[in-house]
Amino acid sequence: MPATNEQLSKYEKIEAIVKGFKLPAAAYKRAMTLLNQELNNGLKSQKSNATVLSMFPTFVRSTPDGSEKGEFLALDLGGTNFRVLLVRLNGQEIDIQSKTYLIPQTIMLGTGTQLFDHIAECIGKFVAEHDLISHQLPLGFTFSFPCHQEGLAKAKLSHWTKGFRCEGVVGEDICQLLHEALKRRTNCKVEIVAVVNDAVGTLMSAAHGDRNCEIGIILGTGCNACYMERLDNVHTWNKEEKDFQPKQVIINTEWGAFGDNGCLDFMRTEFDREVDTFSVNPSKQTHEKMISGMYMGEIVRLVLERLTHDQLLFRSVDRECALFERGRFYTKYVSEIESDTDEFFRHTKQVLDDMQVENYTTEDCKIVKYVCTLVSARAAFLAAAGLSTLINRLNKQDMTIAVDGSLYRFHPRFHNLMCLKIKELVKPGLKFRLSLSHDGSGKGAALTAAVSLRLRNLKNVEENGFTQPEMVSVKA
Ligand code: ADP
Ligand code: MG
Repeated sequence: MPATNEQLSKYEKIEAIVKGFKLPAAAYKRAMTLLNQELNNGLKSQKSNATVLSMFPTFVRSTPDGSEKGEFLALDLGGTNFRVLLVRLNGQEIDIQSKTYLIPQTIMLGTGTQLFDHIAECIGKFVAEHDLISHQLPLGFTFSFPCHQEGLAKAKLSHWTKGFRCEGVVGEDICQLLHEALKRRTNCKVEIVAVVNDAVGTLMSAAHGDRNCEIGIILGTGCNACYMERLDNVHTWNKEEKDFQPKQVIINTEWGAFGDNGCLDFMRTEFDREVDTFSVNPSKQTHEKMISGMYMGEIVRLVLERLTHDQLLFRSVDRECALFERGRFYTKYVSEIESDTDEFFRHTKQVLDDMQVENYTTEDCKIVKYVCTLVSARAAFLAAAGLSTLINRLNKQDMTIAVDGSLYRFHPRFHNLMCLKIKELVKPGLKFRLSLSHDGSGKGAALTAAVSLRLRNLKNVEENGFTQPEMVSVKA
């Protein structure tokens, strides 16, 4: 059926509003060039204020080689759930038991002491429930906030993100805070061996079964990536340590902050700016806000609000309805809406009912889905551009990228969209694979602890010709 003039002009008006999300390949290529510059800036020794990416050396020097063994505790803080895990490693056999605990909002916004006491109490309970009180347990701590690491088990919080704001923690060593809380609140024998963020855990977990895996990315509440860099390129690394093999270290890019100096403004829309203005951290995490699950639903909601306001969508909507409430349109709705493949729009209608929109038409459903596809595709393409930058940089024939996070896991098109874009953006001939990493923050943290015990041993043998007994992996 040919479109009427009225419809045509309506579609033109909609296009004018959403066109900022439809970026040409050249825009993503420009973002890649800029990102590569920022990666280099962040690795320079003389850090200037112009440095946007933290590029933290993580002190993780090797991915697992499969020989890791023993019984480990892991902690996962900084995601949606706080978990304590018991991880038993034996070659490729891995047994994980875990329990999720709640962190009440009052603690998320309370003092650091309250937070770490709460964590220690949860560990104490977990260890008691698993009959491990007398066991010597090395612990890998997944702490998914930007930290300046001074050692594998020494990490100073740079700033809070993702809704946490506990007083007295910024600038402090979170291992020390946890260590003290464990002493105060429990009687278990836990040694904190490694702190990693979720991106590093994800990489370590996937690398356990795949030697080609050297990049990790998180697409969940936040967005971040890490990769294995040659020490020669890491000018912030202590010289003496350079002689100790292996000559590489995993870098936590903290690329969520890419664009915080304005360099991505050319690809931001008015909706991105509004999301930023009303966030808890205005003008921070620019790149993350265009990609991750914490913000995608809200971007979609703002576009729908604008279209409604301009009378291009929904005939009559109550001003009080949920569609006009900040934060009320969840990113999981985007996945649900995009999973509709026929003209019945079953999921879309459910979401619109949930948003208290009345009297919507099939055409409205189409427009809502169209907006979702544009916003999610831009996010997937931007993540792909970031990964392509890293793939080109590492320049290996075959590269596996470990991916974790609910956005990637559950969005029906994210994986395919990312693959499509990466193929377009990487150097010809380089092969890649996106691999969903399982339990990066549990298994990955335990593996990091295990690898570090293995390397500690190696270093002792190299330097002193002996193996220190307490460095041997602990087994019940
Ligand atoms: P975290 O990153 O906090 O460890 P997740 O990986 O589970 O946790 O990511 C949580 C984020 O994923 C939230 O922002 C949420 O909006 C988003 N999310 C949850 N379910 C879905 C889904 N089905 N589709 C897309 N995004 C989702
Ligand atoms: Mg997570």
